[in-house]
Amino acid sequence: MFGTKEQCSVCQKEIQPNEEVWTRMKYPSKRGMTEIKAFLHQEAQFVCMDCFEKTKK
Ligand SMILES: [Zn+2]
Repeated sequence: MFGTKEQCSVCQKEIQPNEEVWTRMKYPSKRGMTEIKAFLHQEAQFVCMDCFEKTKK
C-alpha cells in the first residue's frame, strides 16, 4: 500500500498485497481527501486480522 512495505504494528508481520487489515488512525484535523494519503502514511497503524481477532477478545 502506498508504494512502501507496511507492517502490522502488533506482530511486525509484513502486510501482503490485498490482505485485509485493520487500520487505526487519528482522524485528520484538517478535512480534505487530497491530504488523506500523506496523512495515512504518517499516522496510520496497520493491524493484521490475526492480531485484530486477538485484541477483540
Ligand atoms: Zn499482526
